[in-house]
Order: sequence, then structure tokens, then C-alpha cells
Amino acid sequence: MRAMVLDEYNGKLTLRDVPVPSPKRNEVLIRVHACGLCGSDLKITGGKIKTTPLPHTPGHEIAGEIVECGAGVPSGMTGKRVITHTYASCKTCESCKTGAYNMCPDLHGRLGFELPGGLGEYVVIDASNCVLLPKEISFTDACIIPCAMLSVYHGINRANIRPGDRVVMLGVGGLGIHGVQFLALRGIHVTAVDLKKDKLDYAAKLGATEALDFEAFMNDQNKVSVIMDNVAKPAVTGPCLKKLAKNGRYVMVGYSPGVESVFDSEYMHLNETQIIGTRNGTIPELKEIVGLVSAGKIKSIIDRILPLEQANTALELIRNGDIMGRVVVQHDNG
Ligand SMILES: [Zn+2]
Ligand SMILES: [Zn+2]
Repeated sequence: MRAMVLDEYNGKLTLRDVPVPSPKRNEVLIRVHACGLCGSDLKITGGKIKTTPLPHTPGHEIAGEIVECGAGVPSGMTGKRVITHTYASCKTCESCKTGAYNMCPDLHGRLGFELPGGLGEYVVIDASNCVLLPKEISFTDACIIPCAMLSVYHGINRANIRPGDRVVMLGVGGLGIHGVQFLALRGIHVTAVDLKKDKLDYAAKLGATEALDFEAFMNDQNKVSVIMDNVAKPAVTGPCLKKLAKNGRYVMVGYSPGVESVFDSEYMHLNETQIIGTRNGTIPELKEIVGLVSAGKIKSIIDRILPLEQANTALELIRNGDIMGRVVVQHDNG
């Protein structure tokens, strides 16, 4: 099968022919139709994620069709259209039993991070990682659900957002542009904050109550109850924490490996500020989002769709911040 393979960190991906994997017990073989790319792929190809092996096929935002079932999987699964939860978890621990694969203490790896991902034409994963895709959602719209949508949706749930809260969506790229939609759907006051005007305009169109460039946000004297930080840069996080009112929640949705942020402990003490970590999301949440997209309540924001062999171009577009929402790679397999 064709795959875009990383041979050295910070190097380009190369198109190669690699063996099609075969599904082991409880696993399925998926023919990948579309694979979204995101900031994590820059960290993976840049060697920032220390667990990524070489050579490696990235791609963790996967939508496709089950073409073969391993032992123990009902054969009726063959032919089903699915998206995949990224985390190859143990399926037996307390977290896994609730579908919180993201918090399994015994992970075998993640698709596209440690395991071969969706920049190959086929992937294998446990059947229970698959969530069925209704026919009204295209593969290209669906592939970004397990990352761009799920990560920010889970973060919103972690923040325990209530009516009356004022929420800031810090950065309205792939995560934030969908986060704005989730909050608007719940009738929550959400302020989009970004450096780029076109992204702010689009966020306003998709339901943001207000849209401010970063400087205007920092100069605004009003305090907010929740900040969803999709940026995770020290120059942003420390100062932004002080924009929170009493009992404010600072949700770290983005992440920067090896980079530490500094927070004002006295401010946190005086205001009982909470800092909340959040990591991908759960199977039940993934199913909820599929329902919302299927009902037309949430729109998949995709800037462009490129063929597999242009995956390097896709990564370059992400690096330059030149995209609205996500960029998706499509396999040439019908
Ligand atoms: Zn991603
Ligand atoms: Zn587990």
C-alpha cells in the first residue's frame, strides 16, 4: 500500500510502498479515505513527541471503511464506514470501561503518534475504537471529528461550563473554530480571540458572541469565567490567566512539549483559579459529536483537501498558520 513515511525527525515525508497490516484478534483493517492533519503532526514529525518511532507513518484523524475483521469481531462490521478513536487502550481498566480510552494507564500507543496512522492507505485498530459514521457525513468532514472536534468538546465538558459563564476561545484554528460552535450551540457567551482578522470574522459568522484580536482582549478590563487555551505558549498563558474572574477556570487544550508556563500563584490564591488539563476525549463524547454533525448542528471546517502525496504541503500550511480550520489529506481509493 502507499504511505507517506517519516524517516528522520524534521525531514520530509516520502511516498513509499509498505506492507498492508493484518488485523489481530479484536482488530479491524480500515481502508482510510481521509486523514486530517494538525499541530500535533508538526510535533510528531519534528521529533517533539518522544515516543514516536522511526520510520513512522503519521496521521491520527482518520475516517474510512472496514474491509477486514480479525478473530472475535462480528463479520458484519465489514463494509461499515467509521471514524477511529486514536488511543489503543487496554479495554479492561476502569477508564476504558467507561470509554475514557484517553485516560487508560496502559496504552499500547496512539494511531499516528506511536502506531502507523492514516497517511497510509490502511490502518489496524481495535474494533471498539471505531465509531460508526452515518452516510450523510462525508469521510473528509468526518476525519477531523476524533481530534479537532473531540479535543475541544472534551475540554468544554471538563470546564463544567454553566449558563451565564463568559468563555474565551483563545485561538480559533482547528480546535477553536469548532469550540466556538459547540459553545454557541449551548447558548454560552463566547469570545473568539486570535491574531488573524479573517479567522475572527469567520468565528463570528459561526456563532461567537464577540471576536477580538489578542491585543484588544488583553486591554479589555472585563473579566471572564473560562479561558479555553488552544495556543499553550508561555507568552500567552501567564498573562491570560489574570483575565479570569474569581473561581475562573483556565483550560489547557493545546500543548507544547518541553515548554513550561509560569502562573502568578498569588493571583490564583486570591481568586481560587483552577487550571484544568484536558486530553483528547472519550468514546461517548465521540458518539455525541457524530450525532451533532449528522444533525447539521456542527459544521466541519475544512480549508482544503489535498491528495496523499501532498502531505508535506499540508504540514507546511499548518506551520505557516495559513488555514481556516483543518487541512485534510484524501486517499485516491474511491
Ligand atoms: Zn490532531
Ligand atoms: Zn485501559
